[in-house]
Amino acid sequence: MSGNLSSLWKRLAKVEQRMADQARRAELANCNCIRSPWMTVAMTGQPEKFEAEMNHRCPSHGFRRLGRIMHICFIDPDGTAEPDPRLDELIATYDAGLAQADREQANDSQES
Ligand SMILES: [Zn+2]
Repeated sequence: MSGNLSSLWKRLAKVEQRMADQARRAELANCNCIRSPWMTVAMTGQPEKFEAEMNHRCPSHGFRRLGRIMHICFIDPDGTAEPDPRLDELIATYDAGLAQADREQANDSQES
């Protein structure tokens, strides 16, 4: 009797695990994150393009990862880089959001 009950619990746990895996796969099917080595270009003088990429949300993760950020800037003939404070600010905001998303993901995987 107790043997039957414990095998029933084991089967139930397997079914639960399978359902959780299926739900997770379905959730990840909608993911639109960009993963390294893919990248997103952040070009000096075009902060709005990077901002548009940043403003997309991932249906699976909330925060959308943009892979490696390729920051392209132009060097003037005098050797100085053309500044783009708006783009620098956007990249810093993205980096902070990414660090936050990494922390949340680490917490989630500890809980389950
Ligand atoms: Zn995603």
